[in-house]
Amino acid sequence: MAAKHKISIIYTGGTLGMRPSEKGYAPARDLDGLLRERLPELASGALPEYEITEYEEPLESSNATPQHWYDLADRIRNADDGFDGFVVVHGTDTLAYTSSALSFLLSGFGRPVVVTGSQIPLIEVRNDAGGNLIGAMQAIATGRLSDVSVCFGRFLLRGNRSTKVNATELDAFVSPNLPPVAEIGTDFQFNELNVLPPPPEILSAPPSYRDCNIAVLRIFPGMPEGLLDAIVGAGAAGIVLRCYGVGTAPTADEGFLAALQRACEAGVVVVAVSQCLEGRVTLDRYAAGSALADVGVVSGYDMTTEAAFTKLHALFALGLDADRVAGLMQENLRGELTAG
Ligand code: ASP
Repeated sequence: MAAKHKISIIYTGGTLGMRPSEKGYAPARDLDGLLRERLPELASGALPEYEITEYEEPLESSNATPQHWYDLADRIRNADDGFDGFVVVHGTDTLAYTSSALSFLLSGFGRPVVVTGSQIPLIEVRNDAGGNLIGAMQAIATGRLSDVSVCFGRFLLRGNRSTKVNATELDAFVSPNLPPVAEIGTDFQFNELNVLPPPPEILSAPPSYRDCNIAVLRIFPGMPEGLLDAIVGAGAAGIVLRCYGVGTAPTADEGFLAALQRACEAGVVVVAVSQCLEGRVTLDRYAAGSALADVGVVSGYDMTTEAAFTKLHALFALGLDADRVAGLMQENLRGELTAG
């Protein structure tokens, strides 16, 4: 199956290629050398041909900024036409932000991008790095992918539905509101139901990086008045509001509600997602949620925080106004949400 495929492996950093240091694992260069030493089967002919591009300074992914997503998308878009697909090796801590962002920044690109990483570095005797990397390459070699996925442990997941749920176990990622694209056992068991919408016109010209300020605010009991104003005062164009349950917040707190209204009236796009891992936001199910909608909060339905965050970023990067962004946040652009 493999021979006719050629894959570009882009090493951005992360645990997979890290080495021990006095202060714990740290990013290291020369993944290519490490792979030759530790994973010679990559070059055995049983897998697709590959070429590695390495970041000059591999990243600890907790240091990744939005600019990183746009640079990575540009690299992929500008890569040789001869590649059938791309494996992005990435740190797990912000991997789901990057895979979500790439789904919006590479809309209509057409060639598969599989983001992977590991919980244990390849340099260690027992590790999940080799399996994940090989899984990502084999996923592309199936010829059944065309968008952005995450390959990790036993699962191939849609990139903009995935989230890291375990800090230590090897199945670290899930897509809580969508079945996996495929389960990886002795072979790849694809789920036929995961159909993507066609690439939307609005993303046909890929957004370029812009310095837009998006914030995430998790609602908690006794939230101090002024927190929301401070976020807006810091220049937020959009806020992912992580509400309770199906989309409630302390709306009996007049100060909070008034601050939310001020934010929405000032053109800040406030998108409600749920703090719960599974399920969806339905703002009119409770009066405490309707009050949010009444002041201008829009529903993020079943989007992950990562998808909502990166989608807001990409839409503002297109230069759209707040009303248009708020409208599009409620539409399914790249398979990131199920409305209704
Ligand atoms: N801290 C690491 C990173 O995100 C964790 C990992 O790669 O698993 O870069």
